[in-house]
Amino acid sequence: MTKTKIDVTLSATRKEKPKSDQLEFGRVFTDHMFVMDYSPAKGWHDPKIVPYEPITLSPASMVFHYGQTVFEGLKAYRTKEDKVLLFRPEKNMERLNLSNDRLCIPRIDGEFVIEALKQLVSIEKDWIPTAEGTSLYIRPFIIPTEYYLGVAPSKFYRFMIILSPVGSYYKEGIHPVKIYVENHYVRAVEGGTGKAKTGGNYASSLRAQEEAAQKGYSQVLWLDGVEKKYIEEVGSMNIFFKINGEVVTPEVNGSILEGVTRKSILELLKSWETPVSERKISMEEVYQAYKDGQLEEAFGTGTAAVISPIGEFLYDDNKIVINNGETGELSKKLYDTLTGIQKGTKQDPFNWVT
Ligand code: PMP
Repeated sequence: MTKTKIDVTLSATRKEKPKSDQLEFGRVFTDHMFVMDYSPAKGWHDPKIVPYEPITLSPASMVFHYGQTVFEGLKAYRTKEDKVLLFRPEKNMERLNLSNDRLCIPRIDGEFVIEALKQLVSIEKDWIPTAEGTSLYIRPFIIPTEYYLGVAPSKFYRFMIILSPVGSYYKEGIHPVKIYVENHYVRAVEGGTGKAKTGGNYASSLRAQEEAAQKGYSQVLWLDGVEKKYIEEVGSMNIFFKINGEVVTPEVNGSILEGVTRKSILELLKSWETPVSERKISMEEVYQAYKDGQLEEAFGTGTAAVISPIGEFLYDDNKIVINNGETGELSKKLYDTLTGIQKGTKQDPFNWVT
């Protein structure tokens, strides 16, 4: 597959690009997209870059019925020297194949897809915004395309990559969010699909997210699906705590999505010789640390916000206010370091950037 040529058809027209202060997340798409199909006879075949346009599918296409879908999310940045940088794209491809395995979707050739991605992004280079905090969001995804209403893995699939210029997550600089500790709904259970990036996980999170928003909280903290005791994730981010000098994040356990940002933060902290552990951590332990005056910081990590400091939790009826609701020192340092590496303004000792 790696040597397969990618057919390119350029669009006859070009859309107007949004101004960098008007960018939202995921509303505007570039002029081209990547498409590749799968059939049992040909495997993944016919890779091409074509004008961005709607696709036509039968109403019986399996994508509309049983949710056998997977996706990824990563970003491209454009430097002052006009170079285009991708952050650890091979990790997204590894995770996409992990999601494929879980959803009975045939694996893709990660190396080939990264080549396709680079070609698509370079065609769309002018769409990559350069203002502080902006980037080009990259959304690879796979849908089942067989026309069949039986509950079974599809025999046919389509892989696509679309691109969207996105604005700064923090319009007024990095600032802490308020989090509702969810004690009724759960996101995932061991043996379920939590570790895969599949649509159903996000569909099932919406109800809790809506109810938390009505209460004035921006995201929910997910607890484990059995005892509702151990901490899993926050919204669509992984979570870290700093307790009495030690950084703690929940261990990967089959129900947590293993973030590329999470992995990078762990590697950064280890290189700084900051005490850090991946282990089970309960909400009760966090509350006790708070009461003992040892809960120093909490933050979420993910591609969208990179680091999202947490200023407050509502845990049953208890308000847990962290660091007076302000951004902690470690959160800020991690944000500056990681975004600096991603944008090419800071040294990249790990060779994370392509
Ligand atoms: N958890 C969930 C449920 C997510 O959707 C994401 C976003 N991909 C993350 C964690 C963070 O992963 P990453 O750092 O790779 O963006």
